[in-house]
Amino acid sequence: MLKPTKLLFGPSGIPLSTPERNTLNGIAQVKKLGLGSMELAFTHSINIKEELAREVKKTAESNEIVLTCHGQYFINLNAQEKEKLDASIKRVLDAARRAQECGVWSLTFHAAYYLNQDKTKVYDKVKQAFKEILKTMKNEGITLWLRPETGGKQAQFGELNELIKLSQEFEQVLPCIDWAHHHARSGGKFNTKKEFEFILEEIEKGLGKEALQNMHCHCEGVEYNSTGEKNHVNLEQSDMNYKELVKVWKDFKIKGVITSESPNIEGDALLMKKFYELS
Ligand SMILES: [Zn+2]
Repeated sequence: MLKPTKLLFGPSGIPLSTPERNTLNGIAQVKKLGLGSMELAFTHSINIKEELAREVKKTAESNEIVLTCHGQYFINLNAQEKEKLDASIKRVLDAARRAQECGVWSLTFHAAYYLNQDKTKVYDKVKQAFKEILKTMKNEGITLWLRPETGGKQAQFGELNELIKLSQEFEQVLPCIDWAHHHARSGGKFNTKKEFEFILEEIEKGLGKEALQNMHCHCEGVEYNSTGEKNHVNLEQSDMNYKELVKVWKDFKIKGVITSESPNIEGDALLMKKFYELS
């Protein structure tokens, strides 16, 4: 598996500009665009067959593109019925297995919904599920990072302190920081230099410098209301203060992957990369 050695920018999914859009062509297009990473979107289903996985890995390695992966949307590690919980755990494991075959460095997913329950109770349930998932991953030799993501809605698990705490409990876990989701779930906060710095300072305090050298982030434009994220839009159509954010990444010398989840996919990855290099 290819790991990032600096801060890389890339699209969530296959670039829109790819001639004949498929995963292999997408990786080549990422290279051609001058970007450094691509996030495989298993969001609706695991859309890469076993036979193709080896090709994906080879293509990524020969093009020197770091791969990340986004797991299925339909996961809730706080599901109340055992059947549903088991199905969610299986989805994470199936995504991890295929992602590992594809040479993916880091797998992120939305871990759970609070279902109006006490957050401490939800945390314990999620932790228990992570324990089970990681045990199986270890047994099967799956070495990629497992990353719970910042929830964009207030009803979704994934506040900063929850992500950090979960990462402290398990060696193979680190947060996936979605900067726009922090902005949206807080009703418009996390949009200034100080607030951006706070997030990185908390990560360093809780998880050490190593975590800052191994960041997996999402950033995009976002529209939100009092319950949090409504939908993703392009950065320039949103109030996301990305120019300031990019400077903070540079100040803190973070390394890893920044994935653009904007509708223009590679457009905003290139935009952020440009500002990063200029700042
Ligand atoms: Zn996500």
